[in-house]
Amino acid sequence: MGMTIIDGKQTAEEYKALLKQEVNVLVATGKRPPGLAILLIGNNGASETYVANKLKTCHDVGFNASLFRFENTVSENEILNCINELNFNSSIDGVIVQSPFPNHISPQKINEAIHPAKDVDGFHPMNAGRLQQNKPCYIAATPKGIMQLIEKYKIETQGKHCVVVGRSNIVGMPMSILLSRNSKPGNCTVTICHSKTVDLASYTKRADILIAAIGSPELITAAMVKEGAVVIDVGITRVADKATKSGYKLKGDIKYDEVAAKCSFITPVPGGVGPMTIIGLLQNTLLATKNAIYN
Ligand code: NDP
Repeated sequence: MGMTIIDGKQTAEEYKALLKQEVNVLVATGKRPPGLAILLIGNNGASETYVANKLKTCHDVGFNASLFRFENTVSENEILNCINELNFNSSIDGVIVQSPFPNHISPQKINEAIHPAKDVDGFHPMNAGRLQQNKPCYIAATPKGIMQLIEKYKIETQGKHCVVVGRSNIVGMPMSILLSRNSKPGNCTVTICHSKTVDLASYTKRADILIAAIGSPELITAAMVKEGAVVIDVGITRVADKATKSGYKLKGDIKYDEVAAKCSFITPVPGGVGPMTIIGLLQNTLLATKNAIYN
């Protein structure tokens, strides 16, 4: 049986071209391009990279992106005030705050401060709730990107057993909702695993579709994966590696080489889910510009 590597980078390029076309249409009809505001607190290395990638992709497709930088010591109120101003700024369609946050800043407060119509990360309870009820909403970017990879690679989901490892509001939980919805792709039977799951392998071994969103490098080994499974690796961890120029290597949650040998589809890290996450974010921002969600 053949194995296909899911090329997130290439797929993202195709979606980028579509986004660019849509921006051109907006501009040609006298409208302004989509506007995204990104708040970044502190200077965590991985966050810096993610934000730089988001800004670059915005630039490539013709979005207006603005970066708001804050020191690690910034007060929660200062962030909330900035969000509030952006909520009222008519040239801004989407507002996101790059995680992780310093300990004195509550992610929940931040997520709830962003106006649901500008919540292009889809983390506000209003959007999470609408997702669960299958209403139009901003779908969290990573699961949204994964659904598009599943569609593009024509992966059958109906009736399949999908095991999602991880239950965060950012990835695991929305992913499990999307795959269990009555839609196409969808209609999976979903099992959610987490850190309190006893005997993780007994669940992952029964997955037709395995989605790992853990943040524990190479936790999933070949012995934990069913022959012919579809394997989606969301995890990205910087692991020290003296042989590289940066001093680290990016590792997924899947032990790639040995798992790739026995599955039907697999996403690499990097170049799998990551590039599609940015596409999901930009698609949400474009939707916000068109104000299409709550109408
Ligand atoms: P969180 O830390 O919020 O969630 C991790 C989840 O994994 C939790 O539900 C946790 O369980 C579970 N978990 C931890 N250890 C184990 C274990 N040993 N066995 C089973 N489950 C376990 O992380 P995120 O969801 O935000 O991100 C997950 C990973 O994905 C990270 O590596 C992150 O960097 C990456 N990521 C990648 C993106 C991309 O674009 N490719 C985008 C977003 C994230 P519990 O709930 O019990 O704590």
